[in-house]
Amino acid sequence: MNSFTIVFVSLLALTVLTQLWLAQRHIRHVRANRNTVPDTFAHKITPAAHQKAADYTMAKTRLGMVEDLLAAVILILWTIAGGLDWLDGIWRQPGWGALATGAALILSATVIMGLADLPSSVYRTFVLEQRFGFNKTTVRTFASDLGKQVILLLLIGAPLLLAVLWLMQKMGTYWWLYVWLLWTGFALLMYWAYPVLIAPLFNKFKPLEKETARQRIESLLQRTGFRSRGIFVMDGSRRSAHGNAYFTGFGKNKRIVFFDTLLDTLADTEIEAVLAHELGHFKRRHVFRRMALTFSMSLAGLALLGWLIGESWFYTGLGVSSPSTYMALTLFMMVGPVFVFFMQPLFAWGSRRHEFEADLFAAEQTEPAELINALVKLYEENAATLTPDPLHSVFYDSHPPAPVRIARLQAQHGSL
Ligand SMILES: [Zn+2]
Repeated sequence: MNSFTIVFVSLLALTVLTQLWLAQRHIRHVRANRNTVPDTFAHKITPAAHQKAADYTMAKTRLGMVEDLLAAVILILWTIAGGLDWLDGIWRQPGWGALATGAALILSATVIMGLADLPSSVYRTFVLEQRFGFNKTTVRTFASDLGKQVILLLLIGAPLLLAVLWLMQKMGTYWWLYVWLLWTGFALLMYWAYPVLIAPLFNKFKPLEKETARQRIESLLQRTGFRSRGIFVMDGSRRSAHGNAYFTGFGKNKRIVFFDTLLDTLADTEIEAVLAHELGHFKRRHVFRRMALTFSMSLAGLALLGWLIGESWFYTGLGVSSPSTYMALTLFMMVGPVFVFFMQPLFAWGSRRHEFEADLFAAEQTEPAELINALVKLYEENAATLTPDPLHSVFYDSHPPAPVRIARLQAQHGSL
């Protein structure tokens, strides 16, 4: 125990209290607005759909509160309660050397954390999502997803981890620069390969073939300079009734993906508007900007770790008695989120700004009214609340609430 312990515990407590306070506010706000559909949506959303969204949001937020509390308890158990120290002691017994011991510690801790998350993941899928009619995942799919994740962890995660630990030990004072280069190269490779190598392990993708919308889509792609082979439909209905569309990858592998669930509910003109929104992310280079931010933050983080690794208070303050490079890395990954939690509103703000930019792009390329209709359907299909607590939204929301997006579109293009 030292003063760093006090800093850590205080910040963790402040984080959890903030999480619970925001969740409470959110639940109260959604409940207060449960029985009144906002005016602008009165002719678009039924009271029943509005109430379902409210109930779903409250249930999800309640589960989130339990998860936040549990995560904090588990973090305390790992650190100052001595969990990591104990696990380290076990792996040190055989005397394998720092590299193998480090890899064993980190992989076993990852597996234990995964197991600790399992009950809430099972509850979320088979109880909460089920209750609101969203779950389409079978136990078999759930188990096979889990199996694939473990195999990917061993096949991709373990070699990467060994390489990182090796660089940390061999590269001297500036090891963190080498690790950053490796990490950045790996992340770029993943951004590029994910859509074609990893995502197809979990879902089926086929080119969008909507004959009736083809003309519109071709013309839109021509105007925006996006190659048409990059538009896919994903069998999201295998796991959930939620609908979505997203932009992923870069270079030859960039693609726009529609969930089949979303496609079924949208008219051709609305598909065109959603596609234009996703193309907006592409044209405004949002993927590159987000990558640049991530890479500069990981550089700053690794430089910080380069300093912390030599400070004994960093280990003892977090309940670890024998310092080592792998332990520094483990502690940093576990405890880091507590130290960046209050930057969350900044990240959310950046993401919402990108959404506005993509909406604006879509409104320039297609009929704004069609995007508005599509947004209403998208939020309804996902039972996303139209009345979030404003502060909760500012803190967490990567996408602006529907009323805010629609009001912005209407203001930009005159009342529709
Ligand atoms: Zn978007």
